Amino acid sequence: MKIARITVYQITLPLEHPYRLSGGRLLFEKLDSTIVKIQTNEDAVGWGEACPWGSTYLPAFGKGVRAGIEEIAPQLIGQDPCKLDVINRVMDRALPAHPYVKSALDIACWDILGKTTGFALCDLLGGRRDEPVGLHSSIPTGTPDEMVKSVDAARAKGYRVHSCKVGGSDVYADIKRIKILTDKFGQCDELTFDANRAWLSDEAIQVMNATASFSAYFEQPCETFDECLTVRRLTRQPMILDECIHIFQDVVRAHQEHACQVISIKLNRLGGLTKARRIRDFCVTMGLRTIIEDTGGSVLADTAAVHLAQSTPITHHRATWLCHDMITVDIAPGQGARNTAGVTAAPFEPGIGVEPDVQVLGEPVAIFGG
Ligand code: MG
Repeated sequence: MKIARITVYQITLPLEHPYRLSGGRLLFEKLDSTIVKIQTNEDAVGWGEACPWGSTYLPAFGKGVRAGIEEIAPQLIGQDPCKLDVINRVMDRALPAHPYVKSALDIACWDILGKTTGFALCDLLGGRRDEPVGLHSSIPTGTPDEMVKSVDAARAKGYRVHSCKVGGSDVYADIKRIKILTDKFGQCDELTFDANRAWLSDEAIQVMNATASFSAYFEQPCETFDECLTVRRLTRQPMILDECIHIFQDVVRAHQEHACQVISIKLNRLGGLTKARRIRDFCVTMGLRTIIEDTGGSVLADTAAVHLAQSTPITHHRATWLCHDMITVDIAPGQGARNTAGVTAAPFEPGIGVEPDVQVLGEPVAIFGG
């Protein structure tokens, strides 16, 4: 089987509510998503999605995805989509680095592998676990009152794990936010305080040590791996690394240096399911817990990530975020992994189990191949 055609769609995904990260420095109202359809000479069809969380969150942006696909797609025409490691080597040769460009293509090839073999992706990725996939909410930063309201709204949808965004320039305001949220929800729910790299190490150390008696995880306190490592060595709460993890070697180093207890595996940041699965397997082997999700997107991107989570031992999986639960456009109504009272499950259909409605996607922005 060979890849015969790659069709690229662009879709704007409006957020239900404007979203602020880390002390209000980044505001998001909509996401620029790229969806690819790969067709083979045997009429198999696979779908994938790449949706950076805006252009200011990571070194990734929507137009960059499509520009990168323009470089890579011609090299994939004629390749067997079921040979995922070969596909990834071809992509890495065509365009070194730029993992966020490759995730939609990689995911679409996995979709074809599943449909061709008759397996749901979670079964190809290691096997469906019995337990459902636990979800966490994403709570934008704001005043303590605003954040309490957001957590209450998430609780009404069933969420019991919350990723609360903190990290302003005022250390004492952050300590207050964390104290109020922990007092109110710390006994009944699980809390993560995610600074999205907004703190310098001295600020992170002050905030974390002032809240050391609270039961909470802290995520990506500072910009770089080394700054986070400094914080790790001078604090005691469980720490999650997210934005500074780009390649497999970063996770190996995190393990060797005891830099964190949890790795956030985001498909788009890492380049798709092939590379995310390798990191997941390393984490499970080495005793690191995981968060498994995508950087953003519709139910298509979310469901691909849920398949990886569904095949990860529950002991090594903290939570998964469903971006589409915050988006007002639905590209595949009734399909894919949805929030059911704070948990979800990977579909049982072969492949990803999401077939986007092409009427919603609109006209393609690029077509490669015949
Ligand atoms: Mg994060």
